[in-house]
Amino acid sequence: MIPFEYRTPKNLKEVHATLKEFGGDAKLIAGGTALVIMMKQRLVRPTCLVSLSSVRGFNGIEVKDGGLSIGGLATHRAVEGSALVRRRLPMLAETYHHVATLRVRNMATVGGGLAHADPNQDPPPSLIALGATVKVTSANGSRVISLDEFFKGYYETVLNADEIITEVMIPKQAANTGAAYIKFLPRTADDYATVSAAAVLTLDKSMKTIADVRIALGSVGETPIRATDAEAVLRGQPLKAEAFAEAGEKAKQAVDPVSDFRGSAAYKTDMAAVFVRRALEKALADIRQQAKSKAAAKPAAKPAKKKAVKKGKKR
Ligand SMILES: Cc1cc2nc3c(=O)[nH]c(=O)nc-3n(C[C@H](O)[C@H](O)[C@H](O)COP(=O)(O)OP(=O)(O)OC[C@H]3O[C@@H](n4cnc5c(N)ncnc54)[C@H](O)[C@@H]3O)c2cc1C
Repeated sequence: MIPFEYRTPKNLKEVHATLKEFGGDAKLIAGGTALVIMMKQRLVRPTCLVSLSSVRGFNGIEVKDGGLSIGGLATHRAVEGSALVRRRLPMLAETYHHVATLRVRNMATVGGGLAHADPNQDPPPSLIALGATVKVTSANGSRVISLDEFFKGYYETVLNADEIITEVMIPKQAANTGAAYIKFLPRTADDYATVSAAAVLTLDKSMKTIADVRIALGSVGETPIRATDAEAVLRGQPLKAEAFAEAGEKAKQAVDPVSDFRGSAAYKTDMAAVFVRRALEKALADIRQQAKSKAAAKPAAKPAKKKAVKKGKKR
């Protein structure tokens, strides 16, 4: 490795000041699970590492505006194990559970994962499908970026060198919404996906029409991909099994995978259609399961009171 300075600022203000001092030559380090490998491979050569390990107050998980707010420094393991996330968005807890191994998840942070921007990562498709935004701060203030617009290319985001992800915000999901993330893993359980798909599906009150849908895929292009044309096939349409397959076929047109040791580009393209269909089916099953649980939790209706019968002679 190339020699570098190591700074341990205690708060955001000090982080901002250190990043300013080194200009674009400094790099933030959170869990270090991605950055250290990149440095060993000499893909990045920072002159200073700015550790976020002593910065407090950005690792919480809480309810915000009816949705969820997750601190940029929360670990993957914290999201996976959070009772709040499991109760409100089980699909998100499941997504983080699918990342690598427990050792990696114990160190890796939500903000570090997003900033790393490897298109094979698990959380981005789920967060995009959930309509998440990220809050980033710098010495110049803060801004909120939709995750739809966050990823620019391989390991590339719209973040400026002096910006830190401090929060990921997931909006409140509408009634009758189900969500699913599935990852195709033909090799080992802790591998990156060959193809992954996330779907967030909302039915209208009748439960027979698709009111809204968001679909995103991983491992099928330079960035995670939102399949808007596939969504358009479904939005406002009556709920029909064939429609999910049709949306899957449409999603194929949005992907542009590369051939690698996880599969050929043609194979990944075909799998994209299959996984979009399956993610939609799983999201629908989630809606139905929620409706079932809700119905089961309702107190049974009291038996109607018997009408008092007046005593008297029958005519
Ligand atoms: C063996 C192994 C297997 C893996 N398998 C998977 C997998 O199956 N699925 C999956 O999704 N991922 C996988 N990963 C990737 C893993 O998700 C990332 O390494 C991890 O999320 C990075 O988080 P970190 O906190 O360690 O980031 P770091 O390594 O600390 O930093 C990564 C990048 O983000 C920047 N950064 C860090 N924090 C912030 C912040 N708050 N704001 C702005 N920039 C920041 C750093 O400067 C750096 O450029 C794997 C990694 C390893 C090592």
